[in-house]
Amino acid sequence: MTRLTRADLDTLPAYVAGRNVADLARELGLTEAIKLASNEVPYGPLPGVPEAIAEAARTVHRYPDMGVVALRERLADRYGVSPDRVVTGCGSVGLAETLAKVTCLPGDEIVHAWRSFEAYPIIATGAGATGIRVPNTAGHGHDLSAMADAITDRTRLVIVCNPNNPTGTSVRRAELDRFLAQVPDDVLVVLDEAYREFVTDEQVPDALETYGDRPNVVVLRTMSKAWGLAGLRMGFLVAQPEVAATIRKVVTPFSTNLLAQAAALAALDAEDEVTRRCALIIAERDRITEALRKLQLEVPASQANFVWLPLGDRAAAFGAACEARGVIVRAFQPDGVRVTIGTPEENDAFLAAAEHALA
Ligand code: PMP
Repeated sequence: MTRLTRADLDTLPAYVAGRNVADLARELGLTEAIKLASNEVPYGPLPGVPEAIAEAARTVHRYPDMGVVALRERLADRYGVSPDRVVTGCGSVGLAETLAKVTCLPGDEIVHAWRSFEAYPIIATGAGATGIRVPNTAGHGHDLSAMADAITDRTRLVIVCNPNNPTGTSVRRAELDRFLAQVPDDVLVVLDEAYREFVTDEQVPDALETYGDRPNVVVLRTMSKAWGLAGLRMGFLVAQPEVAATIRKVVTPFSTNLLAQAAALAALDAEDEVTRRCALIIAERDRITEALRKLQLEVPASQANFVWLPLGDRAAAFGAACEARGVIVRAFQPDGVRVTIGTPEENDAFLAAAEHALA
């Protein structure tokens, strides 16, 4: 057959999304199953968001504001930066793709930790670049000194995921300061803070506050997690104005859609509720971590809305055992299992399934 697509994509693993919860419930004959597999917050949309979407729906026959002016101004105000430094996109994953496009030519390198967010190697390959995976430390966190050593003269982008998906680990300020001092000025560093709102360790820096002014740093955030807008795909980044202007040229036009823009503005009005929900998740995260450690699992301290079970090659079997009890978790064979923190009832159902799976 005539080849129409790139040969190097044949072996690229596809992005795997969490299993559909209704499908599993049907399969098991349950009225409902529990999904703790995609790091979503379990409390539904924020107040005011459905109404804002309904209002915006009246004009979906029109393109949205291409400049995303109102939302960028609002985000800039919230995060204390100028609007020309903010770029929004179709999820932060869409912006990460754009970052690879604006930095890499074929053969260039993107350095990232592994395990980390599974989209990074896909994004690197998709951009024609080479993803360089730097293994995590024995404690499942980024090995920043090995990441610095992995930088070559082909490296254009380095991604630090803080806290790290899927291990929940985080890097602290002193380590990050040292690392950033080692990165050459012509290499862009992306600090992916998708889970920033769940961080409680004061030594883990808020990159916007701490590194926002560094010329080669881009801070990536999402409204999919704490802000409850996963279904609308709304991510944003903060970069220096010149970098932001280049990114804006290449980002897919209108990729922050009309409903996403309206919903994000409404969500930003409900920040008190976000804070309240995050506190609930954090308390549950700490409870679940302790309970799992009592089951003899070496769960690393998490600063995100999920925990990591380093089960090695038992990961897939553990995931299947949880599913058989109606709880969808995310197995990353052969390393471990990531479990999103849900409501206390959902977490109890997971703990019961885990206990059974490990017995
Ligand atoms: N970065 C990290 C570390 C993530 O875990 C995720 C979502 N799983 C994303 C980015 C992408 O989020 P979104 O595209 O929904 O903004």
